[in-house]
Amino acid sequence: MAMNEYLKQYIELQKKFRETEGNPDSVRALYDFKEELEQCEDKRAKEVLVDVYDLLDYKKSAYDLLCQIGDCADRKTLKRLGTLKDYAGNWGDHYALPKPKTSEEKQKEKERQVQLGLPAFRYHPNPLETGAFVESAEGVICDCCGKSTHIYYTGPFFSVEDIEYLCPECIASGEAARKFGGSFQDDYSVDDGVDDPEKLDELIHRTPGYCGWQQEYWRAHCGDYCAFLGYVGARELRALGALEEVLDDSLWDQEQKEMIRESVNGGHLQCYLFQCLHCGKHLVWMDFD
Ligand SMILES: [Zn+2]
Ligand SMILES: [Zn+2]
Repeated sequence: MAMNEYLKQYIELQKKFRETEGNPDSVRALYDFKEELEQCEDKRAKEVLVDVYDLLDYKKSAYDLLCQIGDCADRKTLKRLGTLKDYAGNWGDHYALPKPKTSEEKQKEKERQVQLGLPAFRYHPNPLETGAFVESAEGVICDCCGKSTHIYYTGPFFSVEDIEYLCPECIASGEAARKFGGSFQDDYSVDDGVDDPEKLDELIHRTPGYCGWQQEYWRAHCGDYCAFLGYVGARELRALGALEEVLDDSLWDQEQKEMIRESVNGGHLQCYLFQCLHCGKHLVWMDFD
């Protein structure tokens, strides 16, 4: 392959990405290309890989790779390294545009959670992915059951007692909420329209919460609370093909809809993505730092 072949392919994919404003297919195609280039030893492929990383906001990967392969006598390269260095330092790879998952990949993830012994949380189905739980190789002691756990909770827990670690089982069983008289979600900061008190009990006492800039709020639809899927901005919503769907929501006026369109994951205006467990509709909550 000549250099312009990698570059040509990149320009093509980038064009599609821009034209579709980053729809799921265009993002998936960039990910496939990224994986192909990562396997390739050709230096010209690596040069294009820097662009792919940069476009998908793998800022740290872009910076590290350019450090390795870039010509430091070249002014343009130095300038780009300078810009990337700031982003890499502030963002790392943390705000990379996520790859839209296939149903096969979703299934694999479920299996992994079962393998890890993670209980199923109806209203927070991927708590490892959202960061509500993190893994610890050496293990920590759960403040509730006193047992060692390799997965512990990092989200909010509203309780008068100072709790450091909770294991997934003590959250799922409701034991942590009972023992410490606490909750994972404020019961007033939820959408109306859910009549069954058992559902509210499950949400606030047996479901891991999420971390908002301000008071966390939980969306509801079809008479039930929604599943929290994670932290997003407009770009992530476009990549999931969900932006128009979340804007079709009477909760938001025109001005707020414009804000959602402008939101950036990890930025001043943060969106939190939910999905209805019954009809599948996506909804967001948003707040400011
Ligand atoms: Zn425990
Ligand atoms: Zn619904």
